[in-house]
Amino acid sequence: MALAETETEYFPLSFEQRPSDSVVAEAEREVILANPGFGKHFTDHMVAIDWTVEEGWHDARVQPYGPLQLDPAASVLHYAQEIFEGLKAYRHADGSVWTFRPEKNAERFQRSAHRLALPELSVDDFLESITQLVRADISWVPDGEDTSLYLRPFMIANESFLGVRAAQRVGYYVIASPAGAYFHGGVKPVSIWLSTSYSRAARGGTGAAKCGGNYAASLLPQQEAAENGCAQVLFLDAESNNRIEELGGMNIFFVHKDNKVVTPELTGSILEGVTRDSIIQLVRDRGFDVEEREVTVDEWRAGVESGDITEVFACGTAAVITPIAELKGPDFSIGSPDALPGELTMSIRDELTDIQYGRREDTHGWLYRLDA
Ligand SMILES: *Cc1c(COP(=O)(O)O)cnc(C)c1O
Repeated sequence: MALAETETEYFPLSFEQRPSDSVVAEAEREVILANPGFGKHFTDHMVAIDWTVEEGWHDARVQPYGPLQLDPAASVLHYAQEIFEGLKAYRHADGSVWTFRPEKNAERFQRSAHRLALPELSVDDFLESITQLVRADISWVPDGEDTSLYLRPFMIANESFLGVRAAQRVGYYVIASPAGAYFHGGVKPVSIWLSTSYSRAARGGTGAAKCGGNYAASLLPQQEAAENGCAQVLFLDAESNNRIEELGGMNIFFVHKDNKVVTPELTGSILEGVTRDSIIQLVRDRGFDVEEREVTVDEWRAGVESGDITEVFACGTAAVITPIAELKGPDFSIGSPDALPGELTMSIRDELTDIQYGRREDTHGWLYRLDA
């Protein structure tokens, strides 16, 4: 019909295989996988896809891992037109390899692309790109407890042009890095630092996009946190400097007595975490009330003093769930540095990781098989 003719048909990309001829030797890889740390070691291959205004997405390939060639004028280096994602591949006891809700990451990647004036990659091509890389480097998926292969898709503007406008030449890549257990010797609650002089994101800004620029802005306050003995920074909204938004790279939850859980509502300046969304679902499944609404530092202080707030935790793909013992600021603190991990905090953490590692039934259809 005439209507169909006007719609552009979409062809999924097919990936050319360009295998590495210098892969890491098995013995060396086993040493790395026994103690991978985080983000230090990379697998033998990477995915690359090019985009230009004229051709759209093209030349999808799995190629040897290695340095990118960038012109010094590449616009990403000057104007930070860049976005990324983070997700993990988990090895189950039977050897199969799965990831968790990757279509959520694919959709968020599209929203981030839109905000940064980058071209959108289809959800199917995103899913295929991570599948291709994991299959090429399947032997890099560790099988130790709480270990995974961390997948890092990202997109950069690589047109050589110093004029300020959206780039007409872009690269999409996926790299992978084996990741060890985030907590060694058991989950340990952390102290976090309230940033009173810096904001992470403003209304209408890029806070809801997963872009490198947000992280660049969080590094100085993160240093301030470390100087004050804190593991992470908590940011307030830039307008009122009163509403709690999130940490530099994690969302935050408050457990109240009487089966209620509260998390800041998505305002447009908070990153919509996949872990956050999953926790809301799991907590609701248990019959808890979940409120997404405004939360202030004053409510946190009063809630801890009255006993209404019983647990606080942060969440994100890398650490899953991190209990928060205390909030510190220049002249105050809320909570106690040696608080123990909360009961719900740990039980939701176990439930989520059990689903991810295939130890518990996946009733929500969240797992996505990568190896077959
Ligand atoms: C990635 C990220 C999160 C957590 O998102 P997940 O999808 O749960 O990993 C939270 N906040 C920020 C700023 C992030 O960049």
